[in-house]
Formats: sequence, C-alpha cells, structure tokens
Amino acid sequence: MLYLDNCATTQVHPEVKDAMLPYLMEEFGNPSSKYYSFAENAKNAVIEARNHLASLLGCTSSEIIFTSGSTESNNMIIKGVADYFSNQGNHIITTKVEHPSVLETCKYLETKGFEVTYLDVDRFGRINIKDLENAIKDHTILVSIIWGNNELGSLNDMEAISNLCVKENVFLHSDATQVIGKVKVDLSNFPGLTFLSFSGHKFHGPKGIGGSFIRKDQYDILTKITPLLHGGGQEQGVRSGTLAVHNIVGFGKAAEIALDNLNQNIEHLSELESYLTDLLKEKFNEHIIFNNDIINKIPGLINVQFKGVNNEILLKKLAPLIAASTGSACSSSKPSHVLSAIGLTLDQVRSTIRFSMSSYINKVELDIFKKL
Ligand code: PLP
Repeated sequence: MLYLDNCATTQVHPEVKDAMLPYLMEEFGNPSSKYYSFAENAKNAVIEARNHLASLLGCTSSEIIFTSGSTESNNMIIKGVADYFSNQGNHIITTKVEHPSVLETCKYLETKGFEVTYLDVDRFGRINIKDLENAIKDHTILVSIIWGNNELGSLNDMEAISNLCVKENVFLHSDATQVIGKVKVDLSNFPGLTFLSFSGHKFHGPKGIGGSFIRKDQYDILTKITPLLHGGGQEQGVRSGTLAVHNIVGFGKAAEIALDNLNQNIEHLSELESYLTDLLKEKFNEHIIFNNDIINKIPGLINVQFKGVNNEILLKKLAPLIAASTGSACSSSKPSHVLSAIGLTLDQVRSTIRFSMSSYINKVELDIFKKL
C-alpha cells in the first residue's frame, strides 16, 4: 500500500524511534526532579532536543516552548494573547483557510466579545497583502496567518506579512505546521513574526508533541501571555505539565534529521510532485483539474479534482493500493472550507483528492498510478 497522506501524519524515522526508546525504559526520570542521574539525564536530553529545534528554526532554544502539538500551540498563542491584551484591543485578523485549530479558536473568542476579520484568499489560497494592510485597525492585537496551506500547499509571502506587521506594530502568529521540515524557515529573517506553531508528527517525529516559538523581544511577551495550562510552571511558566521526555527526544531527533537533509528532501519531494503530476495528466487527461499552484508551495503535495467523481467513493476504491485523503484529516467529514474559499463549487470540492508525499517514497512506487 502506497501511503500518500503525509500531510495528515508521517511515519516515524527509525532513528527517531531508536532515540526515544531509552527514555521510555532506563532513562524515565522527570527532568524537573533534582539530585539524581535519572533527572539529570532526562533534563540534558530535553536541552539537546530543544537545541535541535532551535537550529532547524533559526531561533534560540529559550524561544522554543514544548506543547502537545499545533492544535495546542495555536490555542495557547491566540487565546493567550487575546486574554492578556484584551484591555488594549479586541480585534484579531486571520484567514478563511486556516486549520480548524485556528478558526474554531477565533470563533470561540468571538463569543467572548472579540472581533475577528477572516481575510479572503486568491485562487490558490494565499492572502493579498493589501487586504491585510487595510484590515489592520488601531485595536488589532494579533494577526494569525497560515504559512503553508495544508490542503493546497500554497505558501503565503511571510516576509511581506512580517514586514507589514513590524511597520504596523502588531503581533504576528503563523501556523507553520505543514512547512517545518519541508521548506527552509530561518526565523532570524522574519523579525515581525513573534509566534509560530508546529507539530512533530508532520516531519517524521512522534505524535502528541509539538511546539511554539515565542520570540524573546523587547515586549518580553512570553512572560505576558496568559497560559492555557496553569500548574507547576514548566516551559518558563507558559505551559505547565511534566515534560514528555521520550516524545521531546524524538521530536528533537526528527528536527536534527530534517535540518541535515533539508535541501535533498526538498529536491526529492519536488521531483516526486512533478512525476506524479505528469503521471496523472497522462492517465486522466481532460478528466482532472489541478487545484494547487506549481510555484511557491510546499513540495510533494498535489490537490486534484477528478471531474464528476465523488472523492469518498474514489478514495475507497484506491484504498487497497493507495492511501490518500480528501483534504484535512481533522475535518474530513465536512466539505473543505479551504476549497470553498478558493471559489470551488460543492461538486468540485466533493471530487477533490489530496496526495501528499514523503521523502521515504520513490518514483517507481508512484508508477502504481499507471496500473489504475
Ligand atoms: N495546523 C495545520 C496547518 C495542520 O495541518 C494541522 C494538522 O493537520 C494542525 C494545525 C494540527 O496539528 P496537530 O493535530 O498535530 O495538533
């Protein structure tokens, strides 16, 4: 079975698994404990993992906060900023094509009196920088814009967005879940980006671990945002709870592997994407329409309409051979809000399939499409 749903989750890298195992068995200590070696070893492993994440992102290790994943990171940042800054403003800007962990958080905040602007997007799911500029008001406290779309792969122009947010003096958060490990991200080039969310299982790390980047800047924002989880004060007080050392170690290893192989992975994924695009064109000809752009995107992701075919029925037919999806795994029972936002009709949305590749597969495996 060929697994082409790597935007939903990825297989753990064998070295990630090997790195994790000792921290489930002999090195099971709590890194917050003191005086004995179990604690010291766990603490050192967490430090090393944090350093790997910081190297991958181009930030300092004290700017990395471990969470259970992007859902939690998105909630923590958006609710945390909204709560702390509610006396300075109540306006948040986001887009119509965010992941539900951003959209539902914003909808929740609307019930608490916040005003949210949901920006429109172009036909590939990117925002227009002028729309963002026009939407910023005196009482805007946060802009939250997805970096790379999980259904279409399109990358927003984060440099322009970051520069605008510096100019307008407004905090910027980005959900970078789908770009980390697949696109070069050097946070030192994005001074306006104060917050980032990411998840380990999207780039061959374990599930249930992720992180937030929170910039150490003149605002000392990390000490200000209201924590989602109150408790023992781990993670500089912003995210309490005993650290999941085995998961953190696996996450760190995945980050180390991703950084070491970034250029070749990008090249490989781009080649796989072109190869599969050509195969689909040859095989299905005028019966398909590609929804994704071919430039400025996450490599290895194809979003395609099979005209007049119901995507659920097609996925079931493919399932013995190929694992793919209709789009986001988190909202697979509903028609995609992302595809609706780019202007597709309900019928077009219902005939769309996403194929997302990983660096573990090769062109020969993709030849399975020839046999369909
Ligand atoms: N944001 C985006 C863009 C995603 O694709 C996902 C997962 O699919 C998430 C957030 C949520 O990540 P997690 O389920 O790891 O919390």
